[in-house]
Amino acid sequence: MIDIHNHTPLCNHAKGEPEEYIQQAIKKGIKIYGFADHAPMEFDKQYRMDFNDMQSYEQKIKKLQKKYKEIKILIGYEVDFTPVKYLDKRVINAPVDYLIGSVHFLDNWGFDNPEFIKEWDKRDVEDIYKEYFHHIEKLANSKIFNIIGHMDLIKVFGHKPKTPIKDLAKNAVKAIKKAGLAVEVNTAGLRKPVKELYPGDEILEMLLEENIDLTTSSDAHSVEQVGFMLKETTEKLKKMGVEKLVYFENKQKKYFKI
Ligand code: ZN
Ligand code: FE
Ligand code: FE
Ligand code: ZN
Repeated sequence: MIDIHNHTPLCNHAKGEPEEYIQQAIKKGIKIYGFADHAPMEFDKQYRMDFNDMQSYEQKIKKLQKKYKEIKILIGYEVDFTPVKYLDKRVINAPVDYLIGSVHFLDNWGFDNPEFIKEWDKRDVEDIYKEYFHHIEKLANSKIFNIIGHMDLIKVFGHKPKTPIKDLAKNAVKAIKKAGLAVEVNTAGLRKPVKELYPGDEILEMLLEENIDLTTSSDAHSVEQVGFMLKETTEKLKKMGVEKLVYFENKQKKYFKI
């Protein structure tokens, strides 16, 4: 199993030492384990690490790579693509294995944060979904990232659009295909009100039709969440015909048979 998107306490909203996450990953039979903590940016600073933390983050994980040889440990960042003006070269050029590009903000609205859930009532769900997938398309076209993070996070609280999701996601899927990006199948959605994988089945079918590379993740913010529902998810993908997952080392794509 691969679990490529996990957090550390540096982002201020995850608990447990990276070493404990790794021990848990080994226990769960995970072979490839990656940290992708929330990268610093000059915006929404309380939910992410500081620029001054980057070095110690990278060094800490590299030390663990040397200590635990029975598991492949990778290091990356989960980077907010929006607000675009805060994309930072220090993160984009960081010497890590991969960058996961995520959209958590529409304008300055953190749409997945329960603190700001009231904003959903003030806006049109169709417009929200259209804007969200437009950002995913631009994220893919930016060529900055290796992996698309929780591709349909916009459904987190269970708001459903009237427009078929395949129509809403179509251009984003095309852009992902064209850019050769991978998409993570992220189990965190199963812990959220929507109770579905990110992405859901319809988008997953589109990705498979286009032969887009997939990887898997639990997006753990605590030790107990490491590998959450990963076994079941890997089995599900196998049943859908997936034979290999992807990971990145030094930004180079590698394949892992499942
Ligand atoms: Zn987080
Ligand atoms: Fe995220
Ligand atoms: Fe995350
Ligand atoms: Zn995430």
